[in-house]
Amino acid sequence: MSFMIVDLHCHSNYSDGALSPLSLLDLASQASVNMLALTDHDTVAGLDTLHQAARDKQLGIVVVNGVELSVRWKKHDIHVLGLHIDYTDATFLKVIKKQQDSRQCRALMIAKKLKTIGVDDAFAKACAIAGHEQIGRLHFAELLVKEGVTTDIQNGFKRFLGRGKCAFVPTLWIDLAEAVNVIKKAGGDAVIAHPLKYGLTRTKLAELIGAFKQAEGSGLEVISGQMNEAQISETAGLCERFQLLASTGSDFHRVDTAYRGIGGQRQLPINCKPIWQQWAF
Ligand code: AMP
Ligand code: MN
Ligand code: MN
Ligand code: MN
Repeated sequence: MSFMIVDLHCHSNYSDGALSPLSLLDLASQASVNMLALTDHDTVAGLDTLHQAARDKQLGIVVVNGVELSVRWKKHDIHVLGLHIDYTDATFLKVIKKQQDSRQCRALMIAKKLKTIGVDDAFAKACAIAGHEQIGRLHFAELLVKEGVTTDIQNGFKRFLGRGKCAFVPTLWIDLAEAVNVIKKAGGDAVIAHPLKYGLTRTKLAELIGAFKQAEGSGLEVISGQMNEAQISETAGLCERFQLLASTGSDFHRVDTAYRGIGGQRQLPINCKPIWQQWAF
């Protein structure tokens, strides 16, 4: 296929997205998406439902098994996508379980911190917002808005939940090499998500990508949601320099945010090698 609309990064309500896998599929179909990966944070729980919906609806969308792993590299929290994985792989599921335990632990500690600023029962309330066990900071941000502590989600991160803020709790995520390894063992490709969103200097970012390449990571998310041409040419340049494959994704969480819709990204630059071209389905 010469022209494809591909979205290899989005979230469902199995992590911190607002929509069910079924609704995501409907949206993707409306946007004429040809290939869609569901990449929930540290969980693959939505993938069975997504496959079932794809079978029921017969929309002609190729569904890719994905995950977005929270990863530690030096002192930085980095997101690594696992794409085209066998999500039943035992070692992979063990790592996912460890990540989920870390999330639960962190959530309890965030709740404790929020109590000191007058938000009671934050853990139970955030779990209720999440609607499942896969709890994240976005659920706490939603809670802070709901309780009138802050005006919007962005502000919730800026004032309370972001790194260094009063309700921030460092998390024991797996390290970069371990994440790449477990994704590879599960037959997938590891991709650094949204490389420009970590606030790293150019030197540090190159160092990160070098370490990722050394660990045998496969790709870089050259386009993540809304990026301008200068940003895209920067990530495409890094991709070429480190001889990585290129990925693209909306990082869609919900309708009505700063994110573009599913599949709404620009096309990958011509010099990029699309990661999906090596996949068999
Ligand atoms: P977690 O994986 O639980 O640490 O939460 C990270 C998630 O929170 C990201 O994937 C985004 O969905 C959301 N997030 C992080 N920073 C912000 C921000 N400044 N504004 C809005 N959402 C954010
Ligand atoms: Mn998220
Ligand atoms: Mn991310
Ligand atoms: Mn994401």
